[in-house]
Amino acid sequence: MTKEETINKINEVKQMKLPHMTYAKVKQYHYGNILGFEETEENIKIMDEYFYRFLDPKNEQFKNGCWVCGNKDIYLSWGITHGIAHSNCCGLSYNVLHYPKDICKDKKLFDDCLKIILQYHPEGFEVRKD
Ligand SMILES: [Zn+2]
Repeated sequence: MTKEETINKINEVKQMKLPHMTYAKVKQYHYGNILGFEETEENIKIMDEYFYRFLDPKNEQFKNGCWVCGNKDIYLSWGITHGIAHSNCCGLSYNVLHYPKDICKDKKLFDDCLKIILQYHPEGFEVRKD
């Protein structure tokens, strides 16, 4: 992909208004109850705010595929940043390990870490003009 193609793709995908990840979807797709997590209104709000930056992997348009290049057969390689992996297709970053301290610095919301492969939502991407 050229830089121009990437810019066009990001702009195109942003127009699609794809669904964000939420705490309810984390429960539904992966965990049921999260060990040590207390389901208060405040705690759920904190989780929703954190997961908002990620794309719902079961969205209709891409369904576990890559929103940049459309690849459905993705495998990941770990990078040098702990918990972050990159796709074989176009190098898009995925956040795989979600630690309680990353989600909330002020209190420990749950035990251990959540292992959920999530792409960042396209709304979070911006292209520099230069
Ligand atoms: Zn890709």
